[in-house]
Amino acid sequence: MDGINEILALKRDLNAVFLVHNYQPPEVQDLADFCGDSLELCRHAQETDADYILFCGVDFMAECAAILNPDKKVLLPDREARCPMAGMLPAEEVRKAREEHPDAAVVLYINTLAEAKAEADLVCTSANPVEMVDALKERTVLFGPDKNLAWFAQKHTRKKIVRVPDDGYCYTHHLRLLRKDVEALKAAHPNAVVLAHPECNPDVQEIADRVLGTGGMMHAAHELRAREFIVATEKDMCYRLKKAHPHKEFYPVESAVCDQMKKHTPFKIHEALSSPEPVRVERHIAKKALRPIQRMLELSE
Ligand code: SF4
Repeated sequence: MDGINEILALKRDLNAVFLVHNYQPPEVQDLADFCGDSLELCRHAQETDADYILFCGVDFMAECAAILNPDKKVLLPDREARCPMAGMLPAEEVRKAREEHPDAAVVLYINTLAEAKAEADLVCTSANPVEMVDALKERTVLFGPDKNLAWFAQKHTRKKIVRVPDDGYCYTHHLRLLRKDVEALKAAHPNAVVLAHPECNPDVQEIADRVLGTGGMMHAAHELRAREFIVATEKDMCYRLKKAHPHKEFYPVESAVCDQMKKHTPFKIHEALSSPEPVRVERHIAKKALRPIQRMLELSE
C-alpha cells in the first residue's frame, strides 16, 4: 500500500522509532518497531537513539517518553488521545492529600499527567504496584488514580493504602468489562485460563486465574501450557497475543474497547510525520516528574 510505504519513507528520513501500546488497533500494531506495555515502552523510549519517537498510545505515555528523553522529539499522531483516568487526578488533589496525610508516601500509577507525577515519590505501572508500594519505608501510601489497582495493591501489601482520588477508574476496564462478560466466556470456553488486568473490578479479578499487566499476559501466554485464554483487558490485546502465539486461542471481551487508544490511524501517523509537532512538557514539571519515574525504572530492573 502506497500510504504505508510513504510512512516508512518519512520514518527513515526523520530517523524515527515507532513505539506502540498493546491496546492499539491491529493496523497500528503492525507498524510498530516495538509494541508493549507502559513499563516496556518507557524503557524503549529511554534507550532509543532515534531522533523522533512516534508514540502510539495516550497523552501520559507520550509525556513520559518526552520526560525520559528531553533531547528527542516525541510525536503523538492524534493529540486528542487523552486517557480519562489520568485526567481524574489533578496535581492539586495530590498536594491536598499530602497535607492531610503528612506521614504518607505517594505512589502514582503511570496513568497520570506530568503535573501529578511531579508530586509523587514513586510511579508504578500495572506490572509492579505492590513492588513499588513495598519499596517505600512509610507505612501509609497515598495511591492513585485507579481504585481497582489500589484494591489489588492493598490485597498484596501489609501497608495501608489510601486512595487518591477515592473513585478513579478506567472506563474500559471498570464499565465495559464486567464479571458477567467473563463468566459468559468461561461458560463457552471451560478450559481457558482467565487473565485479568488489575484495572478490572475486584469481582472480575476474583474469578481470574492470573491478575497481570499486559506485559505479564504476554509472558503467561508463553509460559503456560494452556492453549486457550480469556483475556480480560482491552480487546486488541488479543491481536498482540495471537500474533505472538498463533497456535493458541485468545478470547476478548468484545465491549472492552478504549476509544482513546483507537484515535491513531495510519493516516494520522502519516500526517504527524509530515508536519512534526513534538509533545511539550514544561521544563520544571518534567524535571520534577522524572525523579519518581526514574526511581521506578531503577527499582524494577
Ligand atoms: S484503557 Fe483505560 S487507562 Fe488505558 S488509556 Fe484507555 S481509558 Fe486510560
